[in-house]
Amino acid sequence: MHTLLLDAKQKGAVEKAAEILRNGGLVGMPTETVYGLAANALDGAAVAKIFKAKGRPQDNPLIVHVSGFGQIGRLVESVPERAEKLAEAYWPGPMTLVMKKSPLVPDIVSAGLPTVGIRFPSHPVARALITAAGVPIAAPSANRSGLPSTTTAQHVLRDMGGRIDAVLDGGPCGVGVESTIVLLTSDPPRLLRPGGITLAQLRAVLGRVDVDPAVLNPLPKGARALSPGMKYKHYSPKANVIILHGGEGDYVRYVNAHGGPGVCALCYSGEESLLRVPAVAYGGEKDYPAQARRLFDALRHLDDIGAQTVYARCPKPEGVGLAVYNRLMRAAGFEVVSVG
Ligand code: AMP
Ligand code: MG
Repeated sequence: MHTLLLDAKQKGAVEKAAEILRNGGLVGMPTETVYGLAANALDGAAVAKIFKAKGRPQDNPLIVHVSGFGQIGRLVESVPERAEKLAEAYWPGPMTLVMKKSPLVPDIVSAGLPTVGIRFPSHPVARALITAAGVPIAAPSANRSGLPSTTTAQHVLRDMGGRIDAVLDGGPCGVGVESTIVLLTSDPPRLLRPGGITLAQLRAVLGRVDVDPAVLNPLPKGARALSPGMKYKHYSPKANVIILHGGEGDYVRYVNAHGGPGVCALCYSGEESLLRVPAVAYGGEKDYPAQARRLFDALRHLDDIGAQTVYARCPKPEGVGLAVYNRLMRAAGFEVVSVG
Protein backbone atom coordinates (compact mmCIF):
# COMPACT_ATOMS: atom_id res chain seq x y z
CA MET A 1 0.00 0.00 0.00
CA HIS A 2 1.32 3.46 -0.89
CA THR A 3 0.89 5.98 1.94
CA LEU A 4 -0.12 9.42 0.71
CA LEU A 5 1.51 12.40 2.48
CA LEU A 6 -0.99 15.26 2.62
CA ASP A 7 0.04 18.74 3.75
CA ALA A 8 -2.82 20.16 5.79
CA LYS A 9 -1.95 23.66 4.55
CA GLN A 10 -2.67 22.63 0.95
CA LYS A 11 -6.17 23.23 -0.38
CA GLY A 12 -8.24 20.04 -0.50
CA ALA A 13 -5.92 18.00 1.77
CA VAL A 14 -8.31 17.78 4.72
CA GLU A 15 -11.21 16.93 2.39
CA LYS A 16 -9.15 14.17 0.74
CA ALA A 17 -8.27 12.69 4.15
CA ALA A 18 -11.94 12.87 5.18
CA GLU A 19 -12.94 11.01 2.03
CA ILE A 20 -10.45 8.23 2.85
CA LEU A 21 -11.99 7.96 6.33
CA ARG A 22 -15.55 7.84 4.97
CA ASN A 23 -14.46 5.03 2.62
CA GLY A 24 -13.15 2.90 5.51
CA GLY A 25 -9.45 3.82 5.21
CA LEU A 26 -6.79 4.83 7.75
CA VAL A 27 -5.28 8.31 8.11
CA GLY A 28 -2.50 9.60 10.38
CA MET A 29 -4.09 12.65 12.03
CA PRO A 30 -2.34 15.50 13.83
CA THR A 31 -3.72 16.40 17.25
CA GLU A 32 -2.41 18.65 20.01
CA THR A 33 -1.29 15.57 22.02
CA VAL A 34 0.34 13.11 19.58
CA TYR A 35 -0.50 11.92 16.05
CA GLY A 36 -3.53 9.63 15.97
CA LEU A 37 -4.23 6.71 13.65
CA ALA A 38 -7.74 7.56 12.54
CA ALA A 39 -10.63 5.48 11.22
CA ASN A 40 -14.43 5.82 11.19
CA ALA A 41 -15.36 4.76 14.76
CA LEU A 42 -18.76 3.45 13.63
CA ASP A 43 -17.25 1.12 11.00
CA GLY A 44 -16.02 -2.03 12.75
CA ALA A 45 -14.12 -3.24 9.68
CA ALA A 46 -12.22 0.07 9.41
CA VAL A 47 -11.40 -0.03 13.12
CA ALA A 48 -10.08 -3.60 12.77
CA LYS A 49 -7.50 -2.26 10.30
CA ILE A 50 -6.10 0.03 13.04
CA PHE A 51 -5.29 -2.96 15.26
CA LYS A 52 -3.64 -4.75 12.34
CA ALA A 53 -1.59 -1.75 11.17
CA LYS A 54 -0.28 -1.03 14.69
CA GLY A 55 0.16 -4.64 15.79
CA ARG A 56 -2.03 -3.64 18.73
CA PRO A 57 -3.37 -6.23 21.21
CA GLN A 58 -7.15 -6.69 20.75
CA ASP A 59 -7.88 -5.94 24.41
CA ASN A 60 -6.51 -2.38 24.24
CA PRO A 61 -9.42 0.02 23.57
CA LEU A 62 -9.35 3.08 21.30
CA ILE A 63 -10.36 6.66 22.07
CA VAL A 64 -13.23 8.13 20.03
CA HIS A 65 -12.67 11.70 18.81
CA VAL A 66 -15.47 14.18 18.17
CA SER A 67 -15.54 17.78 16.94
CA GLY A 68 -18.21 19.07 19.32
CA PHE A 69 -19.65 18.31 22.75
CA GLY A 70 -23.07 17.78 21.17
CA GLN A 71 -21.76 14.69 19.35
CA ILE A 72 -21.15 12.64 22.49
CA GLY A 73 -24.83 12.08 23.38
CA ARG A 74 -25.38 9.21 20.97
CA LEU A 75 -22.06 7.53 21.84
CA VAL A 76 -22.80 7.14 25.57
CA GLU A 77 -25.63 5.73 27.67
CA SER A 78 -26.12 9.14 29.28
CA VAL A 79 -23.97 12.24 29.70
CA PRO A 80 -22.91 12.54 33.37
CA GLU A 81 -23.00 16.01 34.92
CA ARG A 82 -19.30 15.65 35.70
CA ALA A 83 -18.61 15.24 31.98
CA GLU A 84 -20.46 18.47 31.26
CA LYS A 85 -18.42 20.35 33.85
CA LEU A 86 -15.07 18.98 32.66
CA ALA A 87 -15.95 19.58 29.01
CA GLU A 88 -16.97 23.14 29.81
CA ALA A 89 -13.57 23.74 31.45
CA TYR A 90 -11.12 21.79 29.26
CA TRP A 91 -12.67 20.85 25.89
CA PRO A 92 -11.57 21.14 23.24
CA GLY A 93 -8.28 19.89 24.65
CA PRO A 94 -6.00 17.04 25.80
CA MET A 95 -8.54 15.24 28.04
CA THR A 96 -10.39 11.94 27.47
CA LEU A 97 -13.53 11.09 29.43
CA VAL A 98 -14.46 7.43 29.99
CA MET A 99 -18.23 6.85 30.23
CA LYS A 100 -20.72 3.99 29.74
CA LYS A 101 -20.97 3.39 26.00
CA SER A 102 -24.09 3.18 23.85
CA PRO A 103 -24.73 0.24 21.50
CA LEU A 104 -23.80 2.49 18.56
CA VAL A 105 -20.09 2.15 19.49
CA PRO A 106 -18.78 -1.14 18.05
CA ASP A 107 -17.34 -3.54 20.64
CA ILE A 108 -14.03 -3.61 18.79
CA VAL A 109 -13.55 0.11 19.61
CA SER A 110 -13.95 -0.43 23.35
CA ALA A 111 -12.15 -3.80 23.23
CA GLY A 112 -15.25 -5.39 24.72
CA LEU A 113 -15.44 -2.99 27.71
CA PRO A 114 -18.85 -1.51 28.63
CA THR A 115 -17.25 1.96 28.54
CA VAL A 116 -15.87 4.26 25.87
CA GLY A 117 -13.22 6.98 26.07
CA ILE A 118 -14.18 10.18 24.24
CA ARG A 119 -12.13 13.28 23.41
CA PHE A 120 -12.77 16.57 21.64
CA PRO A 121 -9.29 17.62 20.46
CA SER A 122 -8.33 21.28 20.06
CA HIS A 123 -5.94 20.94 17.12
CA PRO A 124 -7.55 22.90 14.25
CA VAL A 125 -6.62 20.26 11.65
CA ALA A 126 -8.06 17.43 13.78
CA ARG A 127 -11.26 19.40 14.30
CA ALA A 128 -11.55 20.18 10.59
CA LEU A 129 -10.91 16.55 9.64
CA ILE A 130 -13.48 15.12 12.07
CA THR A 131 -16.05 17.69 10.93
CA ALA A 132 -15.37 16.98 7.24
CA ALA A 133 -15.56 13.20 7.79
CA GLY A 134 -18.97 13.68 9.43
CA VAL A 135 -18.46 10.67 11.74
CA PRO A 136 -16.78 10.13 15.12
CA ILE A 137 -13.16 9.07 14.69
CA ALA A 138 -11.49 6.20 16.56
CA ALA A 139 -7.79 6.88 16.95
CA PRO A 140 -5.02 5.43 19.09
CA SER A 141 -1.53 6.90 18.86
CA ALA A 142 -0.07 6.47 15.35
CA ASN A 143 2.97 4.35 16.28
CA ARG A 144 3.76 0.67 16.01
CA SER A 145 2.53 -0.92 19.24
CA GLY A 146 5.05 -0.57 22.09
CA LEU A 147 7.19 2.16 20.46
CA PRO A 148 7.14 5.81 21.55
CA SER A 149 4.13 7.73 20.24
CA THR A 150 4.62 9.88 17.15
CA THR A 151 4.69 13.67 17.36
CA THR A 152 5.51 14.55 13.73
CA ALA A 153 4.17 13.39 10.35
CA GLN A 154 7.67 12.10 9.52
CA HIS A 155 7.59 9.79 12.56
CA VAL A 156 4.18 8.50 11.47
CA LEU A 157 5.50 7.78 7.98
CA ARG A 158 8.49 5.92 9.39
CA ASP A 159 6.36 3.72 11.65
CA MET A 160 3.25 3.31 9.53
CA GLY A 161 4.31 4.01 5.92
CA GLY A 162 2.96 1.24 3.64
CA ARG A 163 0.43 0.22 6.31
CA ILE A 164 -2.01 3.13 6.15
CA ASP A 165 -3.67 5.15 3.38
CA ALA A 166 -2.46 8.63 4.25
CA VAL A 167 -0.78 10.94 6.75
CA LEU A 168 -2.13 14.44 7.15
CA ASP A 169 0.82 16.66 8.10
CA GLY A 170 -0.26 19.34 10.56
CA GLY A 171 3.22 20.07 11.96
CA PRO A 172 4.71 18.93 15.28
CA CYS A 173 2.35 18.31 18.21
CA GLY A 174 2.17 20.98 20.92
CA VAL A 175 1.53 18.90 24.07
CA GLY A 176 3.59 15.90 22.98
CA VAL A 177 2.17 13.23 25.33
CA GLU A 178 -1.17 11.45 25.08
CA SER A 179 -4.34 12.84 26.64
CA THR A 180 -5.25 12.86 30.32
CA ILE A 181 -7.78 10.02 30.82
CA VAL A 182 -10.48 10.33 33.49
CA LEU A 183 -12.77 7.46 34.45
CA LEU A 184 -16.22 8.91 35.18
CA THR A 185 -18.02 5.63 35.95
CA SER A 186 -16.37 5.34 39.37
CA ASP A 187 -17.05 7.42 42.45
CA PRO A 188 -14.92 9.42 43.03
CA PRO A 189 -13.70 9.82 39.45
CA ARG A 190 -10.29 8.39 38.79
CA LEU A 191 -7.25 9.55 36.85
CA LEU A 192 -6.25 6.62 34.62
CA ARG A 193 -3.51 8.35 32.63
CA PRO A 194 -1.88 11.73 33.28
CA GLY A 195 -1.47 14.19 30.39
CA GLY A 196 -1.60 17.86 29.48
CA ILE A 197 -4.61 18.54 31.74
CA THR A 198 -3.21 18.16 35.26
CA LEU A 199 -4.63 16.44 38.32
CA ALA A 200 -4.96 19.87 39.98
CA GLN A 201 -7.03 21.10 37.03
CA LEU A 202 -9.34 18.08 37.30
CA ARG A 203 -9.70 18.56 41.07
CA ALA A 204 -10.46 22.26 40.59
CA VAL A 205 -13.62 21.21 38.72
CA LEU A 206 -14.58 17.90 40.36
CA GLY A 207 -13.27 18.16 43.92
CA ARG A 208 -12.00 14.69 44.78
CA VAL A 209 -10.26 12.71 42.02
CA ASP A 210 -8.39 9.50 42.84
CA VAL A 211 -5.18 8.51 41.08
CA ASP A 212 -5.21 4.99 39.69
CA PRO A 213 -2.26 3.03 41.15
CA ALA A 214 -1.16 2.14 37.60
CA VAL A 215 -0.26 5.82 37.02
CA LEU A 216 2.71 5.65 39.38
CA ASN A 217 3.50 1.97 39.79
CA PRO A 218 4.01 -1.11 37.67
CA LEU A 219 0.91 -3.26 37.54
CA PRO A 220 1.30 -6.27 39.88
CA LYS A 221 1.38 -9.59 38.00
CA GLY A 222 -2.14 -10.84 37.29
CA ALA A 223 -3.84 -7.56 38.30
CA ARG A 224 -6.56 -6.15 36.05
CA ALA A 225 -5.75 -2.81 34.44
CA LEU A 226 -8.57 -0.25 34.51
CA SER A 227 -6.84 1.44 31.60
CA PRO A 228 -5.60 -1.47 29.50
CA GLY A 229 -2.83 0.54 27.83
CA MET A 230 -1.09 0.74 31.21
CA LYS A 231 -0.29 -2.93 31.35
CA TYR A 232 1.97 -3.20 28.33
CA LYS A 233 5.62 -2.18 28.18
CA HIS A 234 5.10 1.03 26.38
CA TYR A 235 6.69 4.09 24.87
CA SER A 236 9.96 2.17 24.63
CA PRO A 237 12.81 2.91 22.29
CA LYS A 238 15.09 0.02 21.30
CA ALA A 239 17.69 1.20 23.80
CA ASN A 240 17.57 0.13 27.43
CA VAL A 241 16.45 3.20 29.39
CA ILE A 242 17.56 3.57 33.02
CA ILE A 243 16.32 6.44 35.17
CA LEU A 244 18.91 7.94 37.49
CA HIS A 245 17.41 9.42 40.65
CA GLY A 246 19.44 12.21 42.20
CA GLY A 247 20.65 15.78 41.69
CA GLU A 248 22.44 17.17 38.65
CA GLY A 249 25.96 16.71 40.07
CA ASP A 250 25.30 13.08 41.04
CA TYR A 251 23.74 12.40 37.63
CA VAL A 252 26.66 13.88 35.71
CA ARG A 253 29.24 12.04 37.85
CA TYR A 254 27.46 8.69 37.46
CA VAL A 255 27.02 8.97 33.69
CA ASN A 256 30.61 10.10 33.12
CA ALA A 257 31.86 7.19 35.24
CA HIS A 258 29.74 4.69 33.29
CA GLY A 259 30.41 5.83 29.71
CA GLY A 260 31.22 3.38 26.93
CA PRO A 261 30.11 2.23 23.51
CA GLY A 262 26.37 2.82 23.01
CA VAL A 263 25.95 4.71 26.29
CA CYS A 264 23.93 7.92 25.90
CA ALA A 265 22.16 10.43 28.11
CA LEU A 266 18.62 11.83 28.11
CA CYS A 267 19.25 14.99 30.10
CA TYR A 268 17.86 18.42 30.92
CA SER A 269 18.77 21.45 28.81
CA GLY A 270 22.14 22.88 29.80
CA GLU A 271 23.55 19.54 31.00
CA GLU A 272 24.80 18.37 27.58
CA SER A 273 28.14 20.16 27.92
CA LEU A 274 28.80 18.52 31.31
CA LEU A 275 28.42 15.00 29.95
CA ARG A 276 31.12 12.98 28.21
CA VAL A 277 28.65 10.70 26.37
CA PRO A 278 26.29 11.62 23.47
CA ALA A 279 23.50 13.56 25.18
CA VAL A 280 19.99 14.53 24.07
CA ALA A 281 18.29 17.26 26.11
CA TYR A 282 14.50 17.30 26.34
CA GLY A 283 13.75 20.51 28.23
CA GLY A 284 14.72 22.43 31.33
CA GLU A 285 14.61 20.73 34.76
CA LYS A 286 11.35 22.44 35.78
CA ASP A 287 9.96 23.03 32.30
CA TYR A 288 7.52 20.12 32.30
CA PRO A 289 5.55 21.25 29.21
CA ALA A 290 8.80 21.37 27.17
CA GLN A 291 9.79 17.92 28.48
CA ALA A 292 6.39 16.53 27.47
CA ARG A 293 6.61 18.12 24.03
CA ARG A 294 10.07 16.73 23.31
CA LEU A 295 10.19 13.40 25.17
CA PHE A 296 9.06 11.02 22.42
CA ASP A 297 11.09 12.78 19.73
CA ALA A 298 14.14 12.56 22.01
CA LEU A 299 13.62 8.81 22.62
CA ARG A 300 13.35 8.20 18.87
CA HIS A 301 16.43 10.34 18.24
CA LEU A 302 18.42 8.26 20.75
CA ASP A 303 17.58 5.13 18.76
CA ASP A 304 18.70 6.92 15.58
CA ILE A 305 22.13 7.69 17.03
CA GLY A 306 22.58 4.06 18.05
CA ALA A 307 22.00 4.30 21.79
CA GLN A 308 22.13 0.93 23.59
CA THR A 309 21.88 2.24 27.16
CA VAL A 310 20.23 5.56 27.99
CA TYR A 311 20.74 7.18 31.39
CA ALA A 312 17.74 9.45 31.86
CA ARG A 313 16.78 12.37 34.06
CA CYS A 314 13.15 12.10 35.16
CA PRO A 315 11.01 14.93 36.61
CA LYS A 316 9.04 14.93 39.85
CA PRO A 317 5.52 13.50 39.50
CA GLU A 318 3.82 16.91 39.78
CA GLY A 319 1.79 19.01 37.33
CA VAL A 320 2.48 18.07 33.70
CA GLY A 321 5.66 16.45 35.09
CA LEU A 322 3.40 13.58 36.26
CA ALA A 323 2.66 12.73 32.61
CA VAL A 324 6.37 12.84 31.73
CA TYR A 325 7.22 10.70 34.78
CA ASN A 326 4.53 8.16 33.85
CA ARG A 327 5.77 7.77 30.24
CA LEU A 328 9.48 7.70 31.12
CA MET A 329 8.97 5.12 33.88
CA ARG A 330 7.25 2.85 31.35
CA ALA A 331 9.92 3.47 28.71
CA ALA A 332 12.41 2.39 31.39
CA GLY A 333 10.34 -0.62 32.46
CA PHE A 334 10.46 1.04 35.95
CA GLU A 335 14.25 0.61 36.18
CA VAL A 336 15.50 3.33 38.54
CA VAL A 337 18.97 3.65 40.05
CA SER A 338 19.48 5.99 43.00
CA VAL A 339 22.67 8.02 42.51
CA GLY A 340 22.11 10.79 45.07
P1 AMP B 1 -3.65 5.49 22.82
O1 AMP B 1 -4.60 6.35 22.07
O2 AMP B 1 -2.71 4.73 21.96
O3 AMP B 1 -2.99 6.28 23.87
O4 AMP B 1 -4.52 4.40 23.54
C1 AMP B 1 -5.71 4.73 24.17
C2 AMP B 1 -5.64 4.34 25.61
O5 AMP B 1 -6.79 4.86 26.25
C3 AMP B 1 -5.71 2.84 25.85
O6 AMP B 1 -4.44 2.28 25.89
C4 AMP B 1 -6.40 2.71 27.19
O7 AMP B 1 -5.45 2.65 28.21
C5 AMP B 1 -7.21 4.01 27.29
N1 AMP B 1 -8.65 3.77 27.11
C6 AMP B 1 -9.36 3.89 25.97
N2 AMP B 1 -10.65 3.56 26.18
C7 AMP B 1 -10.74 3.22 27.47
C8 AMP B 1 -11.81 2.75 28.31
N3 AMP B 1 -13.03 2.56 27.83
N4 AMP B 1 -11.52 2.50 29.60
C9 AMP B 1 -10.28 2.69 30.10
N5 AMP B 1 -9.23 3.12 29.35
C10 AMP B 1 -9.46 3.37 28.07
MG1 MG C 1 -0.61 4.51 22.28
